[in-house]
Amino acid sequence: LIEKSYRGRFAPSPTGPLHFGSLVAAIGSYLDAKFNHGKWLVRIEDIDSQREIPGATSQILFALESLGMEWDEEIIFQSRRSEVYREALNRLESHNLVYPCTCSRKEIADSSIIGLSGPIYPGACLRNPPSLDKPYSLRIRTNENQIQFQDILKGMYSQTLKSEIGDFVLRRADGIYAYQLAVVVDDAEQGITHVVRGADLLDSTPRQIFLQNLLGYNTPRYMHLPVATNAAGEKLSKQTNAEPIEIANALPQLVKALYFLGHDPPLEIIKGDISSFWQWARENWQINLIPQ
Ligand code: GLU
Ligand code: ZN
Repeated sequence: LIEKSYRGRFAPSPTGPLHFGSLVAAIGSYLDAKFNHGKWLVRIEDIDSQREIPGATSQILFALESLGMEWDEEIIFQSRRSEVYREALNRLESHNLVYPCTCSRKEIADSSIIGLSGPIYPGACLRNPPSLDKPYSLRIRTNENQIQFQDILKGMYSQTLKSEIGDFVLRRADGIYAYQLAVVVDDAEQGITHVVRGADLLDSTPRQIFLQNLLGYNTPRYMHLPVATNAAGEKLSKQTNAEPIEIANALPQLVKALYFLGHDPPLEIIKGDISSFWQWARENWQINLIPQ
């Protein structure tokens, strides 16, 4: 039986507390799910323990609760799911789609042109298989097929992985599974039908669709939200020192995030409480108000 009902998710990486940029993704995914009478799941993307800030997971979850955003099913933690990612990787390997790479960052930088998301790996280790006496990453063989999808906000987006991205890493030399693989496995296993997230991930989507196709998974619908920036035009993030959401002062933060998404709650809502805010927002969510 195919589950047709909406299942959305918010998938923060615990690299710091919730900030305005991540709040926008949280609210957008939450409201789109609730407006569509769907479920909203939370997944903690803590696969890269080197980037994790101790305490960030509980800070993020506490912030979501304090802001009145309830998740519908048990939270999953990527740090506990290596077996599942390994199994998906094995399936790709058994189709001869994966190869080891021992190139260093510097070797890659020196021999590559820069693509949409970093150097385009020129495939040295595909042509000349390396000896595996040092740590190696695993890359997927991409191809020249054009991958296209219709983003709910951005419209048609297409990419040719081989020439625009290159053969990308599925498992790093330190053994950590790459975001692109983990997110695809988890979105499929959680039965996610709609991915609502920041537009900084738009150019990752073709890689994810490529892996979904190879693994026999359904492709969800995608909606990429505008990304909040600071005065210097940089994406708000841990790296750009985005300030954490002030939980003691929740309602104005919610109003500001909803305003960023093009919605203008009336004065009685702005001056009301969190529960009337959510009631108004759930009923008045309109994706055609979201600025491009
Ligand atoms: N964990 C990713 C991030 O925090 C988001 C992944 C996604 O929504 O696909 O940027
Ligand atoms: Zn290599």
